[in-house]
Amino acid sequence: MPDYGHPLRFGSFITPANSPASQPVRLAVLSEELGFDLVTFQDHPYQASFLDTWTLLSWAGAQTERVQLSGNVLNLPLRQPAVLARSAASLDLLSGGRVSLGIGAGGFWDAIEAMGGRRLGPGQAVDALDEAIDVIRGIWDAAERRPLRAGGKYYRVAGAKRGPAPAHDIPIWIGAYKPRMLRLTGRKADGWLPSLSYLQPGHLQRGNRAIDEAAAAAGRDPREITRLLNVAGSESADDLARLALEDGISTFIVMGDDERGLRYFATEIAPAVREQVDRTRAERGNESLGRVRNSIALSKRRSGIDYDGLPVSLVSRAVEPGDAAYARYTSSYLRGAAPGLVLRPETVDEVRDAVAVAARHRHVPLGIFSAGHGLSGRSLNDGGLVIDVGPLNAVEILDAEAGRVRVGPGARWADVAQTLTPHGLAITSGDYGGVGVGGLATADGIGWLAREHGLTIDHLTGVDVVLADGTLAHASATQNPELFWAMRGAGANFGVAVSFEFEAPRVGQLALAQFVFDATDVASSLRRWGTAIEEADRSVTGEVILGGRQGGRRYAQALLVVDSDDPDAIVERLQPIADIAPLLDHSIALTGYDQIMQSMLSEAPQQGQGEPHSHSGLVRHLTPAFAADAAALLEAGASYFFQIRAVGGAVSDVPAEATAYGWRDANFSVAAFGTRSSGLDRWWERLIPHMEGMYLSFESATGPEVLARAFPPDHLTRLRALKQRYDPTGLFRDNFFIDPGAVDDNAA
Ligand SMILES: Cc1cc2nc3c(=O)[nH]c(=O)nc-3n(C[C@H](O)[C@H](O)[C@H](O)COP(=O)(O)OP(=O)(O)OC[C@H]3O[C@@H](n4cnc5c(N)ncnc54)[C@H](O)[C@@H]3O)c2cc1C
Repeated sequence: MPDYGHPLRFGSFITPANSPASQPVRLAVLSEELGFDLVTFQDHPYQASFLDTWTLLSWAGAQTERVQLSGNVLNLPLRQPAVLARSAASLDLLSGGRVSLGIGAGGFWDAIEAMGGRRLGPGQAVDALDEAIDVIRGIWDAAERRPLRAGGKYYRVAGAKRGPAPAHDIPIWIGAYKPRMLRLTGRKADGWLPSLSYLQPGHLQRGNRAIDEAAAAAGRDPREITRLLNVAGSESADDLARLALEDGISTFIVMGDDERGLRYFATEIAPAVREQVDRTRAERGNESLGRVRNSIALSKRRSGIDYDGLPVSLVSRAVEPGDAAYARYTSSYLRGAAPGLVLRPETVDEVRDAVAVAARHRHVPLGIFSAGHGLSGRSLNDGGLVIDVGPLNAVEILDAEAGRVRVGPGARWADVAQTLTPHGLAITSGDYGGVGVGGLATADGIGWLAREHGLTIDHLTGVDVVLADGTLAHASATQNPELFWAMRGAGANFGVAVSFEFEAPRVGQLALAQFVFDATDVASSLRRWGTAIEEADRSVTGEVILGGRQGGRRYAQALLVVDSDDPDAIVERLQPIADIAPLLDHSIALTGYDQIMQSMLSEAPQQGQGEPHSHSGLVRHLTPAFAADAAALLEAGASYFFQIRAVGGAVSDVPAEATAYGWRDANFSVAAFGTRSSGLDRWWERLIPHMEGMYLSFESATGPEVLARAFPPDHLTRLRALKQRYDPTGLFRDNFFIDPGAVDDNAA
């Protein structure tokens, strides 16, 4: 050292002058066009002739697409750190991870006091900044569920809610010169940002030394701290290259108020500096470093994971426990989690790289994550690897006339509906718009149009899968037909689906009906529901949900979709269903499939903690015996959410042997959610004899008995043989693992 090996970057340093207000934004846009990596603005909130820097950053972020954004540097005494942390995280989320936080402890104390800020002496400013950093990082740490208590003397935060987590680890850069500030930079910051014009001869060297020593004393790698420098623009390329190679500066931020100066720097100086630095580094054998993780992040790494052996294609977007983006992976819809490493491939080739990494980590759990709504699957885990295919979320219409559609696994069904509805198309999916394509289309997909249009998998015409050996296979009726059979019902066992092709039927306006019944006589209500649904026109599909008693009565909520825009026909088809029990409330609205999906969706971060406890079963008819046992289960308080969905109809038109999902003659899918102590397991045992199998997406239990209920015996035998062929080591095992080596007792 000190060439710390950081990648070279160039930025502009713009005065937020309000004359005219658009000028600094224009310069920011120009900086992006000229290829600068970074746009920064001074921050002097006491200057009446300046725009507010934070507002300006937000506006500039909205006008640009690629360039990073930072205050240079933000005036901490006038910016409350907990609020500043939220502002920064918000802008980082809105701008797609483009924010850096340059902060300083203040100066111009008369002006700060005049604005209501508190004057801080030299020693106090360091302590205040120290506390502020704890507060800011504490707010960003959304993975930590305890409220934030931080700071003390200057910024006391007493139980603040954390979050939002920024889109990426926002680096904190400190603009400072004095020894104590530099030691703080070494101990806690991610970057040092002085101005060349304020530095005395030898200052940079002394500063670097102070930072490096403080970093080492705090157990940090000095390379964690980026060295940035504001420069005037009059320096030669040789000067700047020397600063890079001898003083470790990797980011040069040039005064940016003069358009011509900016252009000259971008076209003449920056390329020449880059060329010299690259050449000298190559001669010295110095490689340019990627990301250097901080010591807090390093201390949270889990054992058994080769964090440093990741391929270049995945390393920059990989998420580890200490990272800001990690909070996203600590909860799925109903489960809590603490994975050791999340890989976020953005292309099919990167998925292949991720599968290769997973293959080298057979000893830790592996989850495949699309949108995190798995009840049965363990798309997240504790201490293992997760492959998040969320970025593969394109929805493309290939042929609107024929209804041919290609969808990525990371899309949600609400996204699919948004694209398809304007073309008069819909793929029957689940009832919830937030569910991911990857998880649902590799299982079955029991949704609002099931009785008329079958399951989601019944519309699948092809799927691209990255297999356990890393190869990409296309599966369809004509290519790899056995794999295609398996992917439709047991897909999670066979690879990572990276693209699905569907044939979507034509679907126009629909009616969405909501009924509330007095279902205190549970058995009668269920029996009559069963009969009414089985006798209903196929355009009617629906579900009924029962829970605990309220005020001595038990209510049932029904949601039904009728594929018709004719009010008379809708009423006629729904009337027999409305008569199954005393109707307390109802509404019927004409709507589109996209609106239905959108109304059943939460954009809030997933909050699942602990383990869900649910059981699933498939029933041909809601017989009196089934209804009596279901009523007893509810009377015993064993389930707080008992749901019966309609299947049958078009689902039953498909021969049982056509897909891995084999329970084609069931008319109802039953799911019950309870707790371990609610007695659900015991009461559920009594229902099992009425059932012929189950839908694995609503089951939380695992194990061979559960697997034996998920697939008819001959299907399971065929799946096991296919598992031996496509995934003999059992790499894909998070979701009802079909052990290739096991023998089925009851195999046909
Ligand atoms: C609120 C809610 C409503 C639901 N409603 C319905 C419904 O109406 N009908 C219905 O059928 N289901 C429904 N489900 C169940 C849901 O379909 C499944 O849980 C599905 O697996 C969730 O998919 P995901 O991608 O969101 O989940 P994730 O948690 O991301 O994935 C779940 C599992 O799917 C597998 N998987 C995910 N992506 C891939 C991939 N690309 N390739 C291979 N395997 C993959 C993995 O094994 C993973 O563990 C519902 C779930 C919730 C939470």
